[in-house]
Amino acid sequence: MIERKELFIGGRWEAPVVSAQTDVISPATEEVVATVPATSPADVDRAVAAARTAFDDGAWSALPAEDRAAALDRLAGELEARVAEFSHAITLCMGAPVQLSGPQVFLAAMVLRSDAALVREFPFTEIRRGALLPASVEHEPVGVVATIPAWNGSLLMNVLKMGPALAAGCTVVAKPAAQAPLDALLLAEAVEAAGFPDGVVSILPGGGDIGAYLVEHPDVDMVSFTGSVATGRQVGESCGRQLKRCTLELGGKSAAIVLDDAHLGTLAAGIAMGSFANSGQMCNGFTRLIVPEARHDDFVDAVVAAVRQLAVGDPFDEATMLGPLGSAAQRDRVESYIRAGLEEGATLAVGGGRPEHLERGYYVEPTVFVNVDNSMRIAREEIFGPVLSVIPYDGSEEVAIRIANDSEMGLHGAVFSADEARAYRIGRRIRTGTFSINGFSVNPGVPFGGYKDSGLGRESGIEGLKSFLEVKTIHLTEDLATELS
Ligand code: NAD
Repeated sequence: MIERKELFIGGRWEAPVVSAQTDVISPATEEVVATVPATSPADVDRAVAAARTAFDDGAWSALPAEDRAAALDRLAGELEARVAEFSHAITLCMGAPVQLSGPQVFLAAMVLRSDAALVREFPFTEIRRGALLPASVEHEPVGVVATIPAWNGSLLMNVLKMGPALAAGCTVVAKPAAQAPLDALLLAEAVEAAGFPDGVVSILPGGGDIGAYLVEHPDVDMVSFTGSVATGRQVGESCGRQLKRCTLELGGKSAAIVLDDAHLGTLAAGIAMGSFANSGQMCNGFTRLIVPEARHDDFVDAVVAAVRQLAVGDPFDEATMLGPLGSAAQRDRVESYIRAGLEEGATLAVGGGRPEHLERGYYVEPTVFVNVDNSMRIAREEIFGPVLSVIPYDGSEEVAIRIANDSEMGLHGAVFSADEARAYRIGRRIRTGTFSINGFSVNPGVPFGGYKDSGLGRESGIEGLKSFLEVKTIHLTEDLATELS
């Protein structure tokens, strides 16, 4: 049993103000595997005060970009040196199979290195010509940033926020999800080892109450949030009222369109990964499969055969592809959607129940529904589990595009086709922030985010960095512009 007693506040390990512990339950065994300190508002106050002082003193923001980049590279190195520990913590808390939690650590390190490379090249000061006079356009860090990620890819999401915020020169108070505190506290150890000035980073795992307190904190200048649409609306409303900067990375209901010339093997492999990895607990997972009627059975048979091959079980087993869902509440939610699908007239092609060979743990079988209409709840609402809805179309590309775009959300999408140029043309017409061709693509360093209810703003790449920067114009005389150029 792992016992952690301290929080990472302003770059130091501190006992929480209110002494109380929270249990961490393994979703695979349903047993308590760790206890961690419960963050209270008083801890948040201390962390925000440290972040405010560090920002206002310029201990971090005024450093040359190269120094900030070097610190991010050191942090990436710490992650790479401790892959096994991080992977174990992620798998223990949320049941992600080790074949995913290990790569998640490398991906997180890649994100940090990509932020470091970006900031080395970024033109923080540009001399430009306005209509009348020259001016210098300065990019300055926003200030104290609160980062609030979801639990489903906890380390990666912490880093997707913290990396660019720190690269930009902001100070950070991170509130990782209460369900995934162990990898967050390991990240704090890595931050400590990498060496950041006092006050620059705090890491306080906690629940929604702590998140809401942080969002409302008057000394927080910006909120970088990842989570559900419902919570995102609350965070957005609060930030709007306070005129506080915010980015929102929210849910998805992404459609994969299958064209009649799609390759069966490519489709099956793309759906196995894109719909069922992490037990479908992926914001950008393909949850609707839009299939031409003429080849419906061929495509469904290929997908179902691939789904039957997916190993469901102990997430610490290297062969496991699907572990349990992240919590009992998450399993309840997924099972309620499976019931809703049946009640609305969809048909199960595979799955729908709990795996018979597993007596404990929050497992649900990988499930494929056919005969789904895009108006059904299972086609419209985010399930966040291993459930795929197959929606037939009459073969016309226009109809497939219309069904894909008929969603309140717009995070990701895909086309499967032998004709990549045609797939690309379709991709340009889908109203989503990211799009894949013939697979499920993950690519740190380029923008990620949502259209419509899937969010506001972008993470990653130059757009991600810019969201942590304010823009200031300093009007110049011709002489001063020449001197500065
Ligand atoms: P959630 O909205 O319940 O919680 C997300 C985070 O917000 C957690 O850290 C939580 O503690 C905190 N929180 C909860 N209530 C809050 C409040 N009132 N104010 C401030 N913070 C609050 O979501 P979840 O169940 O943790 O995660 C699943 C959701 O996240 C899914 O909808 C999924 O699609 C989405 N997600 C989106 C992305 C993306 O990049 N777009 C990535 C991963 C997950």
